[in-house]
Amino acid sequence: MRQPLIAGNWKMNLVRDEVVSLLDALVPAVDGVEDRDVLVCPAFPYLALAAERLSGTRVRLGAQDMGWEAKGAFTGAVSPAMLADCGATDVILGHSERRHVFGEDDAMIRRKVGCAIDAGIRPILCVGETLDEREAGETWAVIERQLTGGLDGLDAAACDTLTIAYEPVWAIGTGHTATPAQAQEVHRQIRGWLAERFGDAVAARTRILYGGSVNPKTIDGLMAESDVDGGLVGGASLKAADFAQLVNYGRNG
Ligand code: PEP
Repeated sequence: MRQPLIAGNWKMNLVRDEVVSLLDALVPAVDGVEDRDVLVCPAFPYLALAAERLSGTRVRLGAQDMGWEAKGAFTGAVSPAMLADCGATDVILGHSERRHVFGEDDAMIRRKVGCAIDAGIRPILCVGETLDEREAGETWAVIERQLTGGLDGLDAAACDTLTIAYEPVWAIGTGHTATPAQAQEVHRQIRGWLAERFGDAVAARTRILYGGSVNPKTIDGLMAESDVDGGLVGGASLKAADFAQLVNYGRNG
């Protein structure tokens, strides 16, 4: 019942010509794929351009972050209505770079999640432990805290469009993909938490993506795990051929 989702997080990469080249190569390579959802998340200035290029295709458009109010005096922030206006349907929230580089905490992320839901934008809530936390045996405690904080006070209906991305910080951009067993263990715990907190129906329908150095060599093993419903991909989403291989996992021969 959960259609897999392969999502590309382009981070602060690619200028106009590169955005156009990547999309022009990617769209024909993935557009015929009907049994997996595909999402790309360019930087804010190129959302509208990307929306034009993606119009009429199956590839969805997302943003990498969002402000937490509808409008007002928030210099530098981008509102959900602005994202929607530019064609974005999804938004990554609480990415580890937002948490660790820009100092976002669970309360800020919770406000963003609520604001996205209110505006009809689908939130992808990222959670994940650092290497120190993993080595100290704190992985689940950290993730439980991030889930509890990021979704505090929401009800099951509000979680209708929610996606969770488990992204161990030690795996992001390092080339050290978590093993399928490591990913599955945490994904299973996340699904169990969703069941306890929101009920079985929410747990069964919520996609849980894995992110952290996913590449064409590691995707098949990860996707074979029962609670891994897709990937949130940084580096490998910047190359059309690699990203197309990820979307076509299990069929690349
Ligand atoms: C990410 O930015 O969410 C990510 C997982 O990056 P990478 O695939 O490069 O590790």
